[in-house]
Amino acid sequence: MLALVKTGPGPGLELREVPRPEVGINDVLVKVHRTGICGTDLHIAAWDPWAAKTIVPPLVVGHEFVGEVVEIGPNVAGFAPGDLVSGEGHVVCGRCRHCLAGRRHLCAHTVGLGVGRDGAFAEYVALPMTNIWRHAPGIAEDVAAIFDPFGNAVHTALAFPVLGEDVLVTGAGPIGLMATAVVRHAGARFVVVSEPNPVRREIAARMGATVVVDPRERDLADVQRELGMVEGFDVALEMSGNPAAIRTVLDNMAHGGSIAILGIPTEDVALDVNEIVFKLLTIRGIYGREMYETWYKMTVMLQSGLDITPAITHRFPAREHESAFAAARSGDAGKVIMDWTA
Ligand code: NAD
Ligand code: ZN
Repeated sequence: MLALVKTGPGPGLELREVPRPEVGINDVLVKVHRTGICGTDLHIAAWDPWAAKTIVPPLVVGHEFVGEVVEIGPNVAGFAPGDLVSGEGHVVCGRCRHCLAGRRHLCAHTVGLGVGRDGAFAEYVALPMTNIWRHAPGIAEDVAAIFDPFGNAVHTALAFPVLGEDVLVTGAGPIGLMATAVVRHAGARFVVVSEPNPVRREIAARMGATVVVDPRERDLADVQRELGMVEGFDVALEMSGNPAAIRTVLDNMAHGGSIAILGIPTEDVALDVNEIVFKLLTIRGIYGREMYETWYKMTVMLQSGLDITPAITHRFPAREHESAFAAARSGDAGKVIMDWTA
């Protein structure tokens, strides 16, 4: 089969023939239709310091996908050839305290698809049946292809109640964009999106932001005044990983406010802990998706009118992977989809 492979230590990815994955007794083999490019894939392609210490080549990369079941292992029940499915990219151990209690998103032994095991940028991918999500009828394949990052957005956006609350989103990358639409759908009053990139601010406005702001040009206290807010934001979703953004969040929270942090800083971040203490703030880290409550919520919100398609900006056939990766790298894109059937 064709697959996009990190062939050795160093920059680049190669579209090459590799053997089809073996299908273990508990596995489902999926013929991949479409995939989404994630920042993780860009890090692996660029071979940055994180990739160099994490990735063991050769590796088929990618973890955001939709496809159809073509084969099931002898232990597998409940899936059949032809089912339209995506994969939960965190393969958990199944044996630790949290896994046994059903809190699989808290497993400390997670192996990432396309990071610690061969991934989904390929014509076929195999995963344990416990990592397969069958889509409800009517979910568009482009949307199904990005259930993984959509799930990051939903997990973060619903970490705290937002009905009637004023929500700050820092960073309108693909995940911040989707989270903007989710908190709007979930009944937030004001959704303020802070993002330096004008292309992404424009998409955020279309996805339900009350106000979009360039943090280099306008401070959030000014936005609060414009909106008639007096006590600060009730909920913040940190989706940039940028140290300045995280400090700005702390400065603009209401007392008793809640902050969900999804963004991954690449350096140490100095924070004023006094602000956390004296404002009685709650801060929660978010990693991945809840298995499978987040997947359920994604589905029912789509069925009740949530639209995340404005966050999808580019589509390429997989053989044009270099153009697809260039678009994703440019920073001016939302989600970039590669088609493996074209
Ligand atoms: P992205 O890099 O495309 O988006 C980040 C955005 O933040 C960019 O648009 C950037 O312009 C903006 N930004 C930079 N400085 C800012 C500032 N000072 N204020 C406001 N915005 C600023 O990333 P993404 O794919 O949307 O992912 C969002 C973040 O979540 C990244 O840090 C990523 O590494 C992380 N992530 C975490 C998980 C998890 O499970 N925790 C999963 C996927 C991604
Ligand atoms: Zn575990």
